[in-house]
Amino acid sequence: MSAATTLVEVNRLTKRYGEGLTATTVVDDVSFRIDRGETLGLVGESGSGKSTVARMLLRLIEPTSGSVHFDGVDLLHANHATLCQMRRRMQIVFQDPYAALNPRMRIRKILAEPFEIHGTLQRKEIPAQAAELLRLVGLDGSALERYPHEFSGGQRQRINIARAIALHPELLVLDEPVSALDVSTGAQIINLLRDLQRTHGLTLLFISHSMPLVRYLSTRIAVMQRGRLVETGEAVALCENPREAYTRQLIAATPELVTS
Ligand code: ADP
Ligand code: MG
Repeated sequence: MSAATTLVEVNRLTKRYGEGLTATTVVDDVSFRIDRGETLGLVGESGSGKSTVARMLLRLIEPTSGSVHFDGVDLLHANHATLCQMRRRMQIVFQDPYAALNPRMRIRKILAEPFEIHGTLQRKEIPAQAAELLRLVGLDGSALERYPHEFSGGQRQRINIARAIALHPELLVLDEPVSALDVSTGAQIINLLRDLQRTHGLTLLFISHSMPLVRYLSTRIAVMQRGRLVETGEAVALCENPREAYTRQLIAATPELVTS
């Protein structure tokens, strides 16, 4: 494996909750890498530990043990200043498009925040950048003066994606980004992600319980079952020739993806 092409390296990541007899291991010894420019799909049924892995990877929660390296930097031992720098380079979009946007802020303010927090632009440059972000995700500039409740779930998820890519992160983590949306709205968001993948050379960790969705977007796929990685492989090969019965069940469980 060449260090130059690996962006994220997760090694023996474990998360346990509780003590003694009540302890449960929700993520157990999980290791994988994500190469620059690829999409790694993380798939597994609900409760298999996917979100816990994502949150530990971004150090939003602390692992019980294991390590995460981002571009060679040990995230779990990084000091506050280093972690702040790294946070800019990796972003996450969550499942619920309603919870993620502050209802009292106009979209203009929501999209200005990343620039304000990280001080990457002069104040007068921010509105034009915010409008450009909206354009990238298929919304027009009139959205800037509106509030989150004025938008549909799909539009809100577009705004979440716009905010997440504002600072040109190298890694974008998408945790079930379309699971709260209806099928056709979800398909549009998936196509948007595919466009952004192509135009921005983003590296994605795409998390879903739906194998067709994961297959559609991913270069490689990692399959989780009850906290463990049971199978990892190149996307097409893994779907056409699954080794594990569990992987075959996931493939059979979800209908074919319909994208426009
Ligand atoms: P997924 O994203 O695959 O649906 P999660 O990572 O959200 O799975 O959860 C994995 C398991 O960890 C679940 O059984 C969940 O109940 C458990 N879990 C998650 N957070 C906590 C917590 N704070 N305390 C105890 N158990 C938790
Ligand atoms: Mg989850």
